[in-house]
Amino acid sequence: MHTALPLPALDPSVDHALRLIVDGASTEETCATDLAAGPWDFDSRPGYGPGSSMGDVIPTGAPRQGELPPAYREASEDELDARIRAAKRTLGDRVVVLGHFYQREEVVRHADYVGDSFQLAQAALDRPEAEAIVFCGVHFMAETADLLSRPDQAVILPNLAAGCSMADMADIDQVEDCWEQLADIYGPLDQPDADGLVPVVPVTYMNSSAAIKGFVGRNGGIVCTSSNAKTVLEWAFSRGHRVLFFPDQHLGRNTAKAMGVPLEQMPLWNPRKPLGGSSADQLEDARVLLWHGFCSVHRRFTVGQIEQARAEHPGVRVIVHPECPMEVVDAADEAGSTAYIRRAIEEASEPSTFAIGTEINLVRRLAAQHPQHEIFCLDPVVCPCSTMYRIHPGYLAWVLEELVAGRTVNRVQVADDVAAPARVSLERMLAAKPEAASA
Ligand code: SF4
Repeated sequence: MHTALPLPALDPSVDHALRLIVDGASTEETCATDLAAGPWDFDSRPGYGPGSSMGDVIPTGAPRQGELPPAYREASEDELDARIRAAKRTLGDRVVVLGHFYQREEVVRHADYVGDSFQLAQAALDRPEAEAIVFCGVHFMAETADLLSRPDQAVILPNLAAGCSMADMADIDQVEDCWEQLADIYGPLDQPDADGLVPVVPVTYMNSSAAIKGFVGRNGGIVCTSSNAKTVLEWAFSRGHRVLFFPDQHLGRNTAKAMGVPLEQMPLWNPRKPLGGSSADQLEDARVLLWHGFCSVHRRFTVGQIEQARAEHPGVRVIVHPECPMEVVDAADEAGSTAYIRRAIEEASEPSTFAIGTEINLVRRLAAQHPQHEIFCLDPVVCPCSTMYRIHPGYLAWVLEELVAGRTVNRVQVADDVAAPARVSLERMLAAKPEAASA
């Protein structure tokens, strides 16, 4: 049941909520009690660790984190907090700390900038004097920051095991293989027809590896975010008959459906099946080929949760992220990016009730920041993004104190041959304008 919890307004920390559950002091539920332990307890396990992505398959080549020195594993929350502050004070303008919206409170409070992945990559551009950019997010975000920052700036991911299970679902070898199969069906993929349209334009969500962004850049494609997906699809449809959209099938389907593309013209591409599991005729007729990827955090939200929220909170405003499944987006009052969700709450003039379908750290922070509203997560189970959760304050303290000692650890660097085309795909996104604006 959705209880109007006083906890978020007083203490937005998901860590504290988890500890209360484990200690039996809270009646809330969690998806994994071992979340209350430090991530170093599961860094060596084969999967993503406890949390929303724990059932997802981790790729064999995914980066691994080495052992964190015991001093950081054993330090109390207060001690880590003090050490992080002291290291930041010593480093001054030499370092900038970026915190994603989905990070735990104990990390976000040290961030110089808080935002979504692209806002943070751009925020790094505002600090050209910083020698190090410590990105408290996941691996693809650090790669994007590396693409956009100066070559002499080191981008640091405090825990290298903080990947993104959705980004990892689009493997570069599988995508290259898909592209070859599409060339067999459609003919040369770089040849425009008499109308000036190529057979298919690749579009990747920001939540993808630099290798995928590079693939897209090399093949006439573009990157999108959850804020500009419609604009980017318009850009792609003005250049091609079809779009190959990856990795998130839900963002692709929800956006294309809202633009009027029929569902039967959006086949799913399963990389483990020949022709992605479709017939040649279905691929010929397709408008959007949806890669078989998803976010395990946003897949937790259901139509049943929305019905329950409406039954228990008459007048509730339900807003979900477009990474949620289509039925959930259809049943909600609104769907939008994290920036949209934050703006909707900030702009509500009357005290209101909001049920939000996105990651719980952000929802609890919003509830604490807006005590005039009642704000709760649609999913009553406390279940953060497993991979974001890898960035414990212990890792943040470690990378900062290493910088103080003159050592750069956990640097994320994109190889030059990948970086150049990946930047092209990002530049195309920045240049794409909504149809109405460009008309
Ligand atoms: S919330 Fe989903 S898309 Fe975002 S980092 Fe976690 S798994 Fe990836």
